[in-house]
Amino acid sequence: MSPTASIPEALKAWYEAQRRALPWRDAPTPWRVWISEIMLQQTRVSSVIPYFERFIARFPDPASLAAAPLDDVLSLWAGLGYYARARNLHAAAGQIVARHGGVIPDDPAAFAALKGVGRYTLGAVMSIAFGRRLPALDGNLTRVICRLDLIEEDPRAKATQDRLWRRAAALVDDPQPGEINQALMELGATVCTPKSPACLLCPLAAHCRARAEGAAARLPKKTPKAARPTQRWRAALLRDEGGVLLGQRPTEGLLGGLWEPPQAPDEAGLAAMGIKTDGEARVITHAFTHLIWEVEALEGRAVEGGVEGGGYTAFKRVAEADLGGVALTGPALKALRAWGVAAPKRRGAGRGP
Ligand code: SF4
Repeated sequence: MSPTASIPEALKAWYEAQRRALPWRDAPTPWRVWISEIMLQQTRVSSVIPYFERFIARFPDPASLAAAPLDDVLSLWAGLGYYARARNLHAAAGQIVARHGGVIPDDPAAFAALKGVGRYTLGAVMSIAFGRRLPALDGNLTRVICRLDLIEEDPRAKATQDRLWRRAAALVDDPQPGEINQALMELGATVCTPKSPACLLCPLAAHCRARAEGAAARLPKKTPKAARPTQRWRAALLRDEGGVLLGQRPTEGLLGGLWEPPQAPDEAGLAAMGIKTDGEARVITHAFTHLIWEVEALEGRAVEGGVEGGGYTAFKRVAEADLGGVALTGPALKALRAWGVAAPKRRGAGRGP
């Protein structure tokens, strides 16, 4: 490729030659593009692939997702993290059926009105699936643009965000906006990486100001993360011949709709649910993006009648062999493993709510 090729030409030629073969890039229907874009947020490509294939096989279109119980959707999502994504997709599928006859609308305003569709998702799906010239600024594009334009300011600041979106919009003003967005995402994921950008392999090297200044590795500017508060919980494992007792968390809020062994802030909270714990605690920790859970996991038993309350919407017993089919929270999975209860092996994935 000529070093003087324009940025769009250089990007498209590079993407055509270098792009990775990924399942959602075969037959990129709007539905497949959307599902993949949602799954890829905060989550590595290698973790997403098996989830994507299972999800598309089970829910080949919005109508099939809309018709499924939320619990089934969360079970398929379990292990990917950031469960709000699954809840929003489920709700949005219902909106597509109700408002658009089950067809994803080729209309940015209508698509943006769906549950969970933010500016990034709007740009990614509209450009890749429908060829609309809309930017899709994610972490990869932020890094590439900060380096390309030698942007020294904090990329999270409002003024810098505006500048980055404007630049992303200018880059995508091209007859093939989906190719440009995907090329930028791919470049950020494989060449213009956070710690060691491979500038010698980069199709934008001739245009890149950070490369010229030797500033690539220190951009974008990093800001220190705020300390995360720690919450302490006490969880109880109640097992009998019927299996392990699980409570379902309320749909709204952290880990909404997922199942876990009953837990409370302390022993008094468990006692109020009719649970008494015994023996030695095993402590597990689980880091969310915004907080840390420290969970003391103990054997427990029900006293006087049965377990109730605690804010759970339902309780059920699940045979240990069947736990793999339940939408468990990440901390629950860790606690069950700490107890030595047969728990499904999952690939590492997102850690958010
Ligand atoms: S030349 Fe280097 S820093 Fe600039 S965009 Fe390419 S990989 Fe990133």
